[in-house]
Amino acid sequence: MSSIYLAPGYHVSGEVIHILTNHIVEIFDFPIKTLPDFVEADDSYDYKREQYSSVPILRQVIDQAKPDTARILGITNKDIFIPMLSFIFGQAQLGGIGAIISLARLRQNFYGLPDDDHLYRRRICKEAVHELGHTFGLTHCMDMRCVMSLSTSIEQVDIKEDDFCGACRTLLVESIATISHDNLHGEER
Ligand SMILES: [Zn+2]
Ligand SMILES: [Zn+2]
Repeated sequence: MSSIYLAPGYHVSGEVIHILTNHIVEIFDFPIKTLPDFVEADDSYDYKREQYSSVPILRQVIDQAKPDTARILGITNKDIFIPMLSFIFGQAQLGGIGAIISLARLRQNFYGLPDDDHLYRRRICKEAVHELGHTFGLTHCMDMRCVMSLSTSIEQVDIKEDDFCGACRTLLVESIATISHDNLHGEER
């Protein structure tokens, strides 16, 4: 059976990987594997913005995919952006193999507030599930409590749950069933 791979960037803690592994296996029911850390390429750094461009880092993540990769999720401490937006919490290929999340803006101390580990863990799980949801073909959901609702601010991240609404869950199950069928078909040949 194919696996969901976690691809941690530079200095992403083992604790973060542990939290994500437990949550993603519960939500998606795939085996989870973790790759060795990778170092975000210097040429993805934008000196003017003092941020990293998301697209080349996502490319670095996808380049690590193995034949048994169902999906691959990069996790970076870098603050990432795409040209149209001042920052992003994450990015994904819609219906594709790869996604990335940034931890940079998920800690309370980014906002000048005391750290809150419980809140931080919840935010990491929500963003990971959200971006993986996109890779399974899910688009943004209008239900603000659904993990697939769009978050352009940390307040919106905190409003949503770390799981799918009923409608998105149905779409996810259908999408995963399609993958399983493709895999079976591949094995028959
Ligand atoms: Zn999204
Ligand atoms: Zn939904």
